[in-house]
Amino acid sequence: MAAYRAPLKDIQFLLNDVFDVGQLFASMPDTAEVTEDLISAIVEEAGKIAEGLLAPINQSGDQESCHFVDGTVTTPKGFKEAYKAYAEGGWSSLTGDVNYGGQGMPKMLSAVIEEMSFAANSSFALYTILNTGATLTLSSHGSDELKKRYLPKMYAGTWTGTMCLTEPHAGTDLGMIKSKAVAQADGSYLITGTKIFITAGEHDLTENIIHLVLAKLPDARPGARGISLFLVPKFQVDDSGELNGIRNGVACGSIEHKMGIKASATCVMNFDSAVGYLVGEANNGLAHMFTMMNYERLSMGLQGNGLADSSYQIAAEYAKERVQGRAATGPQLPDQNADPILVHPDVRRMLLTMRANILGGRALSLYAASQLDISRFHPDVAQRAKAEKLVALLIPVQKAYCTDRGFEACVLGQQVLGGHGYVAEWGLEQNVRDARIAQIYEGANGVQALDLMGRKTVRAKGELLDILSGEIDEFVASQIDAQSMKPYLDALHKCRERLAEATSIVLARSSEDPNEIGAASYSYMELMGLTLYCFMWARILAAVNGGSGTAGFDASYADSLVKIGQFFMQRLLPRGESLLAEIASGAETLMAMDAEQF
Ligand SMILES: Cc1cc2nc3c(=O)[nH]c(=O)nc-3n(C[C@H](O)[C@H](O)[C@H](O)COP(=O)(O)OP(=O)(O)OC[C@H]3O[C@@H](n4cnc5c(N)ncnc54)[C@H](O)[C@@H]3O)c2cc1C
Repeated sequence: MAAYRAPLKDIQFLLNDVFDVGQLFASMPDTAEVTEDLISAIVEEAGKIAEGLLAPINQSGDQESCHFVDGTVTTPKGFKEAYKAYAEGGWSSLTGDVNYGGQGMPKMLSAVIEEMSFAANSSFALYTILNTGATLTLSSHGSDELKKRYLPKMYAGTWTGTMCLTEPHAGTDLGMIKSKAVAQADGSYLITGTKIFITAGEHDLTENIIHLVLAKLPDARPGARGISLFLVPKFQVDDSGELNGIRNGVACGSIEHKMGIKASATCVMNFDSAVGYLVGEANNGLAHMFTMMNYERLSMGLQGNGLADSSYQIAAEYAKERVQGRAATGPQLPDQNADPILVHPDVRRMLLTMRANILGGRALSLYAASQLDISRFHPDVAQRAKAEKLVALLIPVQKAYCTDRGFEACVLGQQVLGGHGYVAEWGLEQNVRDARIAQIYEGANGVQALDLMGRKTVRAKGELLDILSGEIDEFVASQIDAQSMKPYLDALHKCRERLAEATSIVLARSSEDPNEIGAASYSYMELMGLTLYCFMWARILAAVNGGSGTAGFDASYADSLVKIGQFFMQRLLPRGESLLAEIASGAETLMAMDAEQF
């Protein structure tokens, strides 16, 4: 099996040449010290961690899985040591609040690191991602006292965090959760309830686990507006932020046996009058949790991209070496019995589809991350507000489209290897299993599509789309004199026309039939994803065309980007036409069947 190689060339090219991070970070005082050189050094180091620390325990972790005995969870061999090295390397604090021991780095930087971690070892990455999300929520909404007590050790990686939302009867519809919180005289709360599917709910990597738990106060309103957020430590912590030796009333009841990410512990967590502390305002817990969700959802898209890239690397190398059949144009290797399967157009179709979507998805993820950074660091309040709106529009698409394309790429990679892709040895079947969950958790992709279509498009009356349009207009204006860009700008223009037509169809119909929103939503998300990938590819090609090449990319690399870009425009983009036709067909055929006819 080909060893995972960190895609440093792509990353440097996207960060420096496409998104010009040097200039972006220099324009914001809090990121002014994050220079291209610093980014480059950190990314290279992270690449070594992914290749040398995480990838070597990926397959063995999958084969061994986690162990559950009497309420304790043991991670597979090598995970504890790898986690210790990861934490000691300072990786847990990368984006954290500088006032509590974090390094205050931008999301664009951590996004590429996350992608590499997911590619190398998705199960391992989840322990770290959940901690990052929990620290982010705490630093955004927790009191100073809570931050002082918990953040330093979470940033140090001595403790990890979880997010405890899901209950047996409440997954997408969190308004139905039953976990209760009862106020105590000392200002704390007692939390009681059962949470399921909790990633990293219990494990042996750290001395403490800090759960962020959604629960309802006794007088809470029904539904989503009656949910509060609580911090519940596994072991209680004294005022100075040290363990006081008291085990809290929270325990792992079991772990799930599942399709993939087998080395990630997915836990049933029982809270039995566990001592917890309110985070943020009472009854506003879901909104607080959503701060974390935008980051977590971005991470899921990165999981899709990462596993797609790992699959591509294995499949591309295999296709160059595996000899079967002859090229249609005559033998390429006359001294051998057959040619490498890379000569076959259909094998190239699979590899190019993977590569085009990996680069499009990586660029879209960085674009969304750049907006998260602007919304966090920009000194101008109007710029921050605009970026927040773009984040709201981009994240559901990035999450759903990148995870769908990611899973598809893993399956294509498996297909390139034929039967060898189906057996465990080459790692492709593990990637397929590991990638599948990203389409489901952090809000199933169907629900992301509904969020995009319903809240972010119809209810926002097109305001968010107008902001995106402004961004695209600005880019197009910057390229209008470049003759070689004309075909790509024309393709982008056509995409935008289709998206505008789809939007006006749904806006017009939704006032008459509420089912039109849900009926259009998935195809609309895909059309938007395709349009955004087209925008990203146009930006990639413009950067190649610009040619100054601060990342120092070589001519062959630049040429390959042009060829992949042309493949994307000619072979993948036409799908937009059928998506528009699906949307235009409306809700009727979906709703025609009676329940008993299913
Ligand atoms: C391995 C794993 C790890 C996880 N980690 C965590 C974790 O750390 N913390 C946590 O809290 N949860 C976690 N989850 C839970 C995960 O986020 C949920 O499974 C997911 O949000 C979907 O909820 P559900 O499974 O109850 O599906 P349901 O909500 O029952 O949905 C089932 C189907 O119906 C569709 N659907 C539901 N409602 C609508 C609607 N209104 N409109 C259209 N379609 C709809 C969905 O898209 C889906 O296809 C994890 C799950 C797994 C499997």
